[in-house]
Amino acid sequence: MVDAALPEKHVRLLYDTLSRAESQVLSQLRTGHSKIRGFLARIGVAESDQCECGQGREDTRHFLFHCRRYQHLRGDMIMEGKRRYGDLSYMLGGRSSLLNPDGSSPDGPIDKWKPNLTVVRSVIKFTLKTERLGPHSLASLLQKSQRYGA
Ligand SMILES: [Zn+2]
Repeated sequence: MVDAALPEKHVRLLYDTLSRAESQVLSQLRTGHSKIRGFLARIGVAESDQCECGQGREDTRHFLFHCRRYQHLRGDMIMEGKRRYGDLSYMLGGRSSLLNPDGSSPDGPIDKWKPNLTVVRSVIKFTLKTERLGPHSLASLLQKSQRYGA
């Protein structure tokens, strides 16, 4: 989980504004249950968790922020994320687990906090552009998995 502490109302607010396809992509990014190799290797669908770019393990963070194969698609996400670009929880609409040097939360007090929907949308758009995560593809992969749920 990206942010177990995310208040329920914000989750609803977030998903209420998204199309079905966008919601599915966001859900896959937030849970990590997606066609990203780190997950596929864990459930026994892929042999390796290493990214095709050769720069290490492919997990959600690598896919969104680091993989050089998608660098040309990151412009909007970098612009919207500003100095918090790369903060995975923040970028996916959750409260950050990172703290400021003085120990305070960069998200401010929890009762005043809201997810930045513009940032979340830029992440979803990036993900859709890569065509890596799809609405129907994961279910068929899970059916193929021998080890899933074991
Ligand atoms: Zn990569």
